[in-house]
Amino acid sequence: MLKAFAHQRLERLARDRGMPEEYLHELRVVSSVLPFKVNEYVVDELIDWSAAPDDPIFRLTFPHRDMLPPDVYDGMAALHRTAASPEVIRKAAREVHARLNPNPGAQLEANVPHHGEHPLDGVQHKYAETVLVFPAQGQTCHSYCGYCFRWSQFVGNADIRQAAPDVGRVVSYLARHQEVTDVLFTGGDPMIMSSAVLDRWVAPLLTPDLDHIRTIRFGTKALSYWPHRFTTDRDADDLLRLFERIVADGRHAAVMAHFSHPRELGNPAVRKAIRRIRDTGAVIRAQAPLIAHVNDRAEDWAVMWQRLVELGVMPYYMFVERDTGARSYFSVPLTRALEIYTDALRSVSGLARTARGPVMSAAPGKVLVDGVVTVGDEELFSLRMLQARDARLVGRQFFAHHDPHAEWLDDLRPALGSWWP
Ligand SMILES: *Cc1c(COP(=O)(O)O)cnc(C)c1O
Ligand code: SF4
Repeated sequence: MLKAFAHQRLERLARDRGMPEEYLHELRVVSSVLPFKVNEYVVDELIDWSAAPDDPIFRLTFPHRDMLPPDVYDGMAALHRTAASPEVIRKAAREVHARLNPNPGAQLEANVPHHGEHPLDGVQHKYAETVLVFPAQGQTCHSYCGYCFRWSQFVGNADIRQAAPDVGRVVSYLARHQEVTDVLFTGGDPMIMSSAVLDRWVAPLLTPDLDHIRTIRFGTKALSYWPHRFTTDRDADDLLRLFERIVADGRHAAVMAHFSHPRELGNPAVRKAIRRIRDTGAVIRAQAPLIAHVNDRAEDWAVMWQRLVELGVMPYYMFVERDTGARSYFSVPLTRALEIYTDALRSVSGLARTARGPVMSAAPGKVLVDGVVTVGDEELFSLRMLQARDARLVGRQFFAHHDPHAEWLDDLRPALGSWWP
């Protein structure tokens, strides 16, 4: 449920920092439909209020009217102006949720494995070697990113929620799937869980029966949104001990950190957190989607990758924004994404060129936009499968007609009679 106090708190935070009434109205309208959440660290340490509303971290975390299609915005704004009851506003919001494509990539239908007779809720097994686990207690984040495709997880509609109730069935599924080498805890953000709860999810994997699980990954934005999780939180040390136990067991502990902008790396707290995680033997890799208004300049990526390298974090993926409710607001055309990626790559050394991108995590697999090539007198996109449901297709190259407006695989058409995923 979108809680009233959350709206009021968000509004107060923005008002107290000088945002005008005109903006506060937008904030009320948009936040009655999409979930928002910001904590004090983001507000006080990351956002530059003198630059709001154009500040990248403000854009990442606060509402903007363009996050809703214009007709939806106008309809909701009219309800707010006529002081409709909270019940009427909630009902209208639910109708909008149904329209805004809560689970792109048909993930719910296509990737939930079965164990025995029943679907294994809160588990996705799309690529043979990696199983994603969504622990029920980890289905929120320290703050929310406005573009997040997980937003359906946060609005409390049971039909569109995916969460694993406990680790027991996950363990027995993994025991029967020897091909799985990696378990990726995701969410929401698994670092929202206390260390004791996280331990209940991780420890059962560290048994000889599950010796084929070689890597335990944690997808998290806590280093950006709440680095204190790894430093001064009451159970921060217990979390680090858990990473150490994974490593001591001979397995790889991988923190898949979400960093959107170099600003997130500037604070002493995050630097200390990175240091402490690295001291456990865990390896941090960084990934993020390319987002209009947030990190759509090559310089942002070049500076971020270089700082990451200096901090001992390996750049991993640059993603293309996927089809979510607020897509048109945040999306960057593929051809522009490729330019940003290539320009960023050119201005850093090889050590900072380890991020692959731009990558679309699409229904058939992860598709890399590898370049634009000219064949005869036609420009084509050269694309490549980095991950595929069918492992035989990994590495497969294919071609599409160049289209300057295309934002996603669905917008492209095969060229040269090319194979198509
Ligand atoms: C990206 C992704 C993975 C992991 O892929 P790697 O390339 O091994 O990091 C696993 N499952 C899903 C559904 C993914 O989208
Ligand atoms: S931290 Fe991750 S899951 Fe949470 S809102 Fe941001 S992108 Fe979504």
